Amino acid sequence: MPIDATQAYDDQNIFAKILRGEIPATRLYDDDYAIAFPDIAPQAPTHILVIPKGAYVSWDDFSARASDAEIAGFVRAVGTVARDAGLVAPGYRLLANTGHDSHQEVPHLHVHIFAGRALGPMLA
Ligand code: C5P
Repeated sequence: MPIDATQAYDDQNIFAKILRGEIPATRLYDDDYAIAFPDIAPQAPTHILVIPKGAYVSWDDFSARASDAEIAGFVRAVGTVARDAGLVAPGYRLLANTGHDSHQEVPHLHVHIFAGRALGPMLA
């Protein structure tokens, strides 16, 4: 079910549980600001999720409330994950679904990294 991006943060969401180590995930990256792990249902040969460690529902919530350090740390983490995975030369796509019409399902900000094949002009 798509979420409402204006809802309050729910600390029982699945990514909050992954952050707390209550649900296992293969951590491809972990620093003060973000972790990355493979998407459980990949939609491309490489499909990685990067999430901030702070409690933010969506891109909107994050961009409005996060500190400059958190924003810089998260953006750098997304770039580092892609670089470390060797995705820069072939190329990759970032996606951050935000709210109902985007079909955001997990109410903790996540950036998708898609790569590993020619992705076409846009995801509709
Ligand atoms: O952007 P959206 O909220 O729709 O994407 C959620 C993503 O989280 C999906 O791609 C889904 O496969 C992934 N997911 C995951 N591990 C879970 C639950 C969801 O990787 N335990």
